[in-house]
Amino acid sequence: MVKGHHICKQNYVQYWVKVVNIVCSIIVSLMEALKLSASASIHACAAELQALGTEIWEHPELNYEEYQAHDLLTSYLERKGFAVQRSYSHLETAFRASFGSGQPNVCVVCEYDALPEMGHACGHNLIAEAAVAVGLGVKAALEGANSPGWLKQAPPPGLTAVTLSSETTPPGLPGATPPPEATPPGLTAATLSSETTPPGLPGATPPPEATPPGLQGTITILGTPAEEGGGGKILLMKNGVFEDFDAVLMVHPGPYSVVRPLFKAVKELHVTYRSHSPPYNSHPPSWEGPNALDAAVTAYNSISVLRQQFQPSWRVHMVFLKGGVHPDITPEVSKMSCYILAPCVDQLCTLEDKVVSCFRSASVASGCQVNVKQMNYTHHNIRHNPILAEKFGENSRRIGEDFVDQLGIYGSTDMIRVSRTVPTLCSYFAVGSGREVNHSAEFVGVANTSEAHASARRAGEIVAHTCLDVLGSRELLREIRESFVMQAEAEQD
Ligand SMILES: [Zn+2]
Repeated sequence: MVKGHHICKQNYVQYWVKVVNIVCSIIVSLMEALKLSASASIHACAAELQALGTEIWEHPELNYEEYQAHDLLTSYLERKGFAVQRSYSHLETAFRASFGSGQPNVCVVCEYDALPEMGHACGHNLIAEAAVAVGLGVKAALEGANSPGWLKQAPPPGLTAVTLSSETTPPGLPGATPPPEATPPGLTAATLSSETTPPGLPGATPPPEATPPGLQGTITILGTPAEEGGGGKILLMKNGVFEDFDAVLMVHPGPYSVVRPLFKAVKELHVTYRSHSPPYNSHPPSWEGPNALDAAVTAYNSISVLRQQFQPSWRVHMVFLKGGVHPDITPEVSKMSCYILAPCVDQLCTLEDKVVSCFRSASVASGCQVNVKQMNYTHHNIRHNPILAEKFGENSRRIGEDFVDQLGIYGSTDMIRVSRTVPTLCSYFAVGSGREVNHSAEFVGVANTSEAHASARRAGEIVAHTCLDVLGSRELLREIRESFVMQAEAEQD
């Protein structure tokens, strides 16, 4: 009696292992088909996507002034069936466009601002093109997965041959039916045949990992203004915008294709020197008085001299915002803007101490008052989610794109802050010859070539496929969350 029960249980377990394997292979085939449908919809809209990217490139707009890009993108996404919220979260040029419902909610970030006097020298027009491509691709796959006749109309390669033979039926265990969760939602057309009904062992259920979740949830395109020094995402984060996302992905053009680019931690300082305390005296400053421009120049030179003692990975970028009004008038006020960059927050603090000492010593030397104001969007070093990165890498290889895993990027991004709030991946895709670098006049040129637009759409495909992986597997979502928590604990956030 006991022995018989043991055999039955063994058969039952073997049976479920077979069923799970077959169901998994169906899901893999189904996911491949869904990814193909996502790619197909992106290819079908290639001309429209390129027109979007080109129009944004032709009309560069600065921080928080991206009205034309905002209207262009929101109108397009609305026409394509997305639920669009314009001027989202109290920012006039932000938007949110969603398709689907419920969780998981996967966000793709869309940027579209340009640089002063240069235009699209960072290629954010291509970020917008790629983000819209992701939305179109994932939407097509979600619609396909939830369309009852989809598999009958377009059976994906490898799926029609999958049948469950009578051999899989465990013998002699009548009565029970498989738990409903065993049938993946979205597989309604590929019904499991009656032979597959496990007839035995009342009360037992397969392990939860075996339950295929199907494709469900929401894809959100988040239009985030003012990346170029405006900290648009920081304001959106303060308004809680990122809190309901399970994962956030973005692709950015650059000289190289990198899954996990290594950005730097950054602080922005605004420095003001004054020769008098305001309100100013009405008499013009004489040659005896302090000169605010001298103070700024002294600080600039001190920091430049100090560079030979910097770590090779440290950077200080400075410009003069104000240096006087006329050669015959001793400058009363000078202003500087300064970015400090280092690979991690600890090094950033060390570097900041050195730089601020230079600003203060120039004040003493010149006799001017100094005010060093730290702007409120300090970025930390980025935290790419390793599971998202792994899936992105897999998907890039599947479509024949060559991304290196890690490489240093000499810059920073407000995605760094996002990455500490929600599982995030911010990858770079190559445009140009590899010699044109972001924020240069040469990069403006490559950001509107037909090759660059095609690269943006290919990057969009990879992100769309990665989003589908997340929407299609609760197990993967659990791994993404766990690795996010582990990273935070390791860095003691
Ligand atoms: Zn950029």
